[in-house]
Amino acid sequence: MTDCIFCKIIRGEIPCTKIYENHKALAFLDINPINNGHALVMPKEHHETLLDTPDEVLAETVKLAKRVAKAVKEGTGADGVNLGQNNFRAAGQLVFHLHFHVIPRFEGDGFHHWQGHKYASAQQVQDVAKKIREKLETQNE
Ligand code: AMP
Repeated sequence: MTDCIFCKIIRGEIPCTKIYENHKALAFLDINPINNGHALVMPKEHHETLLDTPDEVLAETVKLAKRVAKAVKEGTGADGVNLGQNNFRAAGQLVFHLHFHVIPRFEGDGFHHWQGHKYASAQQVQDVAKKIREKLETQNE
């Protein structure tokens, strides 16, 4: 993709702080880290979101994300690590090239999880579960 910023980084047209590369995937530091060592892991093949990424490409990317998560945790001395992955604008996606955030976490770093809420009724839980189950049943494996 000509205009995709991550494709430009992959082609070497824009600099990045690379931490790992192979012929299928790339990992580099996020330019605007939540904590130091916050990394991004992505396939070299351009796919906009996780939902349209072929399973084989996704599997390779997730395997690398796991390796990077271990290295980030051990390399930064973090107490924990979050993997984040945003799809579509409503979910906070800014760059439309599939990527995983690998975020080192430290006790008391002040970065809070989002707040959950209670369902309005038991019926509401069942209604939404039914709609999702129906979609899963009609999906091609
Ligand atoms: P997302 O909201 O999941 O699409 O996140 C995109 C991430 O890419 C953000 O955390 C940005 O800070 C990061 N980012 C954007 N441009 C660059 C860049 N040139 N180098 C490194 N990270 C970048």
